[in-house]
Amino acid sequence: MQKGYRGIDLFRLMAAVLVIAIHVSPLEGIWMDGDFVLTRILARIAVPFFFMASGFFFMEKYGKRDELVWNFLRKTGWIYFWVVLAYLPLNIYKGYFGAELTLPVLLKDLCFDGMFYHLWYLPASMAGMLIAWGLVRRFSFKGALLITGILYGIGLLGDSYYGLIYDMPLIRAFYDNLFLMSDYTRNGIFFAPLFLALGMRFHAVMNYGKTKKRYWNGVGLVLSLILMVAEGMVLHERNLQRHDSMYLFLPFAEYFLFGFLCTFDQRRIKNASRISLMVYLIHPMVIVGLRMTDKVLGIRLFSENPVVQFLGTIVLSFGMAWVLVEIVYLLLQRYGQKKEKTCTYRAWMELNLENLRHNVNEIKQILPEGCRFMAVIKAQAYGHGAVIVAEALNNIGVDAFAVATIEEAIELRRNAITGEILILNYTDAKRARELKRYNLIQTAVDYEHCKELNKAGIRMKVHLKIDTGMKRLGMDAGDVERIAEVFSMKNLDVCGMYTHLCVSDSLRGKDVEFTGRQEKTFYHLMEELKKKNVKIPQIHLQSSYGLLNYPDMRADYVRIGIAMYGTLSDKNDKIRSEINLLPVLALKSMVVHLISVNDGESVGYGCDYVADGDRRIAVVSIGYADGIPRSLSNQRGRVLVQGKYAPIVGRICMDQMMVDITGIEGIGVGCPVVVIGKMQEKEIKVTDFAENAETIANEILSRLGRRVIPVCR
Ligand SMILES: *Cc1c(COP(=O)(O)O)cnc(C)c1O
Repeated sequence: MQKGYRGIDLFRLMAAVLVIAIHVSPLEGIWMDGDFVLTRILARIAVPFFFMASGFFFMEKYGKRDELVWNFLRKTGWIYFWVVLAYLPLNIYKGYFGAELTLPVLLKDLCFDGMFYHLWYLPASMAGMLIAWGLVRRFSFKGALLITGILYGIGLLGDSYYGLIYDMPLIRAFYDNLFLMSDYTRNGIFFAPLFLALGMRFHAVMNYGKTKKRYWNGVGLVLSLILMVAEGMVLHERNLQRHDSMYLFLPFAEYFLFGFLCTFDQRRIKNASRISLMVYLIHPMVIVGLRMTDKVLGIRLFSENPVVQFLGTIVLSFGMAWVLVEIVYLLLQRYGQKKEKTCTYRAWMELNLENLRHNVNEIKQILPEGCRFMAVIKAQAYGHGAVIVAEALNNIGVDAFAVATIEEAIELRRNAITGEILILNYTDAKRARELKRYNLIQTAVDYEHCKELNKAGIRMKVHLKIDTGMKRLGMDAGDVERIAEVFSMKNLDVCGMYTHLCVSDSLRGKDVEFTGRQEKTFYHLMEELKKKNVKIPQIHLQSSYGLLNYPDMRADYVRIGIAMYGTLSDKNDKIRSEINLLPVLALKSMVVHLISVNDGESVGYGCDYVADGDRRIAVVSIGYADGIPRSLSNQRGRVLVQGKYAPIVGRICMDQMMVDITGIEGIGVGCPVVVIGKMQEKEIKVTDFAENAETIANEILSRLGRRVIPVCR
């Protein structure tokens, strides 16, 4: 899937130029009004744009999001640290560290105003990200935008609109106290969070499949810029501004600007984000450098002519930024990532989200035209972690999900997952309010359930389940009268209807026949309903095997579970479609203790395993409470250590198990153990593991315990 970030990349570079303009005032002395409009109004879109891009790409990265916030803070903190260091000589030269410098002032500058006039941006990013993400997490996007919008409003009154409250003693006292802490309201509390949250939301709602409205975003952008200029001029004229970073129309301009930029579907520009950040960080130094050059050479080339100074700063800043980025990049490659990350968890699952994306794309290849991909992420996404998986899927434009229970659905909404969420199982009609509040789609599992849901008195979306032979949930397909009646129930918005195939995984003659009958029964029902003037809603019937074996069935959705996770249920299954699926999950643990066992000694509960000859045993910190079936005890299962197979010996315990490592060299405490996955050339597939435990991959995966820690790769 191609993503159109070229516009964003390009504007990043342009925004860096605008920031230079703010700090150089290229039209000063030439055309004062023009300079005001350019540098005090128009160029003010640059920095909020950077915040929006940060929020946007924050969502783009995969992984557990709280972890990501931490990463963001650490990275930004490091940059801040180095940049403060780099500006130290300049600060000393300016006499910043003179006698008047007190600890509170130093802290205030470090936390809010930045250690140089432009560096407020970095602490503001950090504080802003914490606030924006915390709010999105807690209140989802609408709530977060509302609250950050209010914060912005408070900030406005301390910035461009300060004149309005200047004569209100109480309010002014509030602001004047605020200014003791931070020179401006343009900071990480009142300014940055709104744009970060806006960027996050932009990413969440962007559906890459749809054509975007470049024209209307362009019109919106131009209009809001005009209004913003007018606003700025009036405020300036009336002398209301204490500072000129924040305008009422600024967030609107940013919104349309971003929408406009997102319509450019081309390749990315290499290093645009790094270079624009570097330009931002170093250009004040370049400005000082140019003035010093003038002084040293005894000329007035740059200090006399702001246009020359502006152009000189641009050329030099971009040139230096480019070189510096290349150097930093080389250094990081050389020294930064040398250490291979070893995991310190007792038991963890490595999630390869790249493979997840690959699988979705593979599956989409065989989808009929117009059929939508519904990702089945019930049971914690088959053990992988529902939120992590749903986020990764949201990010590649998947906007339909299915879960088993209402609790699972609510968890997704609370974690800002967007798109349709269908609940596959029964939900008590008493919970109609929650279904509505979280915008969920409920499966109506039979006629009684329909009646109950209708009686709840809250209009809700349902998909009607039809039984075509599985005999589990659903109204009998032959019950046309009552099915038609459901469509006329006043509170039910029946937007879908589906059935489930129960032998589509088998290619044996009688099973293929059975599936054919199910399909026919389902389509026949549709014909009957049409005769009764029922408007047919969206229909679906295939799950993974249904699609893989019967890709030509007519449907509006497919409900894909196991295949998306990169495996079949059973290793002996044959399928009709050609498809290359890659496993998403690897299950790992570590050696925590080593034991020597003599000939005839036993190991573990029940003394079930008795050593024939002297044996080396390793204790591995994963057990049946983590999802390892106890039936794999005593050599019915095996793991990989140091690239070699080691059989499980003795009975598997709740939190640990013992493996026989006799003859395998180089094993010590902390040594990683692969329970499912690859190690060097060898592999234990989840289907191998399942076969030994006499079950299917679905069961093994979905039973992985909560104690197994997800790690995204
Ligand atoms: C679990 C489930 C699916 C997904 O099945 P897979 O075989 O994992 O693709 C689809 N539909 C329903 C009704 C389910 O319960």
